Amino acid sequence: MRYVSTRGAWSADPQPFCAILLEGLAPDGGLAVPQRYPVFSRGELAALRPMAYRDLAFAVLSRFADDIPREDLRHLVDATYTRATFGSDAITPLSTLEPNLHLLHVSNGPTLAFKDIALQLLGNLFQYVLDKEQRTINVLGATSGDTGSSAEYALRGKRRVNVFMLSPQGRMSPFQAAQMYALTDANIHNLAIQGTFDECQDVVKAVNGDAAFKARYAIGAVNSINWARVAAQVVYYFSGYFQATREDGEPADFAVPSGNFGNILAGHVARAMGLPIRRLILATNENDVLDEFFRTGRYRPRGAAETHATSSPSMDISKASNFERFIYDVVGRDPVGVRKLWDRMASNGGFDLAGTDYWPAVRAANFVSRRSTHAERIATIRDVHARFAVTIDPHTADGVKAALELRDRAVSTICIETALPVKFAATIREALGREPARPAAYEGLEARPQRVTVLPAAAAKVKAYIEEHAAAV
Ligand SMILES: *Cc1c(COP(=O)(O)O)cnc(C)c1O
Repeated sequence: MRYVSTRGAWSADPQPFCAILLEGLAPDGGLAVPQRYPVFSRGELAALRPMAYRDLAFAVLSRFADDIPREDLRHLVDATYTRATFGSDAITPLSTLEPNLHLLHVSNGPTLAFKDIALQLLGNLFQYVLDKEQRTINVLGATSGDTGSSAEYALRGKRRVNVFMLSPQGRMSPFQAAQMYALTDANIHNLAIQGTFDECQDVVKAVNGDAAFKARYAIGAVNSINWARVAAQVVYYFSGYFQATREDGEPADFAVPSGNFGNILAGHVARAMGLPIRRLILATNENDVLDEFFRTGRYRPRGAAETHATSSPSMDISKASNFERFIYDVVGRDPVGVRKLWDRMASNGGFDLAGTDYWPAVRAANFVSRRSTHAERIATIRDVHARFAVTIDPHTADGVKAALELRDRAVSTICIETALPVKFAATIREALGREPARPAAYEGLEARPQRVTVLPAAAAKVKAYIEEHAAAV
């Protein structure tokens, strides 16, 4: 298996999995994609059905990471997907609300959001590749909450990796701040920036813009466009499908709360690999760039001023970074087609595929979509609680709302639970008038000692901190 760029620059020299693992973007600004999707035959799919999660993960991931010796990959997968880290051997258990309506629980990892599924594996893969190549990296990132803490829990205590994570001081929920700042591992550096999340991102950009500094300190990232994250997420589509269905070949729909298009892209890939997913139900909040695209064909990323702060904040995105991989498939995996569309976006602020030769391919991909508002999230949390005695978080509620509107009762609809309600207590209190349940391991979290350094929103100060605490390479 080799990887190419959606914009073509790697095409002459496709790269193996380990070569693209640590890179965010291809040299031409495109994203890494497999040259072709691996496909499971019907017989192979039937053999996957009874597998435990770790075996399934190995079966799927070994198709993508075939440059890692099988016994090494086996070990990495077994060390990642444990009961100790994910709360059960099922790793992503499924529960049934009523016949043909299910919740897939992919949020039982250390930070109680689905990103742990991919990032816990990524932490182990990073350490493995860095050990092999005898390199060190300094991961620099900015977070408004979820991704940063998931990355820190994945990389804490790992060899050859330091993490410098910027967060806006005083602007996260107390639970989110405590989750990060209570980590005491020597390689984790929490930098509380006196400014907004956007200012944190500007600092990260400025540091990355200093090419000499970036090279000297091997500055890296753990971002949402990392291909290994998509590959790791493909596994739970297989797991969810096999838990919800009984017969080989039986169709199922998935409902996916979406922001950067990373989670649902994994569903698209799982289907391309032969899993009988029928429809992918995409849900957005008021930031409805993706809902607009699937209804109208128009893709129009928004600016910061048009991006709303909502009660499903992890879906507050203005442009969907993984969407380019889907478009690559839509244009027949032709990098010239992708480049033309992205050029048009640069000059016109977007593109419209309705009525073009590409539209039938979008339709054939069988995505359907809905958006929700804050009032609808609250109503859905109440409705699910009243009917099924289950509390769902606001992101999951966006997905369930779309599923309830669009579902076909004759087919299994699997709603992906992307976070646990305890992370978003204020919204749960508003909907249900009480506190969400808190897993035992998180009792007293906010009272634990915290380790955080406060810095002004200035790239020079952050660079000075990195110089002092990271090893130059
Ligand atoms: C990241 C996140 C999402 C959005 O997932 P994408 O892969 O960006 O589409 C949805 N819900 C929660 C809780 C998240 O943390």
